[in-house]
Amino acid sequence: MKSSAMDIYRMLQKYNVFAIVVHRGPDGDAIGSALAWQKIINAMGKECIVIAPDDYPAFLRWLPGAKDILVHANDATRVKEALKLCDMVFCLDFNASDRMGPAEADVVKAGKPFAIIDHHRFPSDFAEAYYVDDEASSTAELIYRLSVELNLDGSIDSEVATCLYTGLVTDTGSFRYPSVRADVLRIAAALLATGMDHVEIYEQVYNSNRIEQLRLKGFALSERLKLTGGDQAAYIYLSASDLARFDFRPGDTEGLVNYALSIKGVHVAAFFAEKDKIVKISLRSKGILDVNNLAREHFKGGGHIHAAGGRSELSLEQTCRKFESLMNERYEKS
Ligand code: 5GP
Ligand code: MN
Repeated sequence: MKSSAMDIYRMLQKYNVFAIVVHRGPDGDAIGSALAWQKIINAMGKECIVIAPDDYPAFLRWLPGAKDILVHANDATRVKEALKLCDMVFCLDFNASDRMGPAEADVVKAGKPFAIIDHHRFPSDFAEAYYVDDEASSTAELIYRLSVELNLDGSIDSEVATCLYTGLVTDTGSFRYPSVRADVLRIAAALLATGMDHVEIYEQVYNSNRIEQLRLKGFALSERLKLTGGDQAAYIYLSASDLARFDFRPGDTEGLVNYALSIKGVHVAAFFAEKDKIVKISLRSKGILDVNNLAREHFKGGGHIHAAGGRSELSLEQTCRKFESLMNERYEKS
């Protein structure tokens, strides 16, 4: 499918009421880019509502406009009304309909045309317009580039910049990942020049921990971190009762998988969390192993080469064994 800023522009011209939907378990990039795109659309004199399938982490609640996000898991009726009233739906930060989780049925049933703005690999064919680039660091980067291409960047004020910068920071591991090209830093510089407060973003995103959240991390690292695959792979697992013990809330385990990947000699890391009767999986790698393929082939998911996610209907223990045998197959002989 063709990535075309003009196709997006034609839809922006044609319609007046928009909905933006993000993926389930929304992160800083999903929420940041959705709120930014909403404000840019509003600045065109058009209406726009942001819908999240389920709740987003508390560390994003301070973002300008976040409080007006409609959360399907909390209020499906209002989401259905908003979908009925809109002319079209922008899908941000995901590219396959099932990433909306339990909200998918209601969004699809509304029967409105879709446009996708996203940076994941292998977009599915369910939209009328696409603005996609799997080499982009984040959807926030794409919103910025799209706004420039469509001459809408005049609306990037300090509030829009705050939302986009949050997406950049969270999806690049604070500008550390290989996805950070010179252009990404140029965009960050342009956002900073609006007068936004980047120190405040770090404070809100990284220094707003609850004590239970830190204790959960401590517990995970001391009791639930294992090496496998000839010590070249590592994983962390948390059962539903582990999560309950530390009063788990959305976002509490964000970044945990990176500790497993930080072990010297480890090339692949996984995080398994038992939630809603399934095991939610996060995968990370460095070097050549493509965790997007690993997630697609073995864990009903996808994502990027170095960061992907998926799910397993096996028990937590069986899921860990499955990962161990995949890693042993890959690394033990080498
Ligand atoms: P995380 O581990 O932070 O939840 O996700 C890492 C990356 O994989 C993100 O880009 C995310 O969008 C993608 N991802 C996470 N879970 C899934 C999933 O269940 N399916 C697919 N296709 N992608 C996922
Ligand atoms: Mn993203």
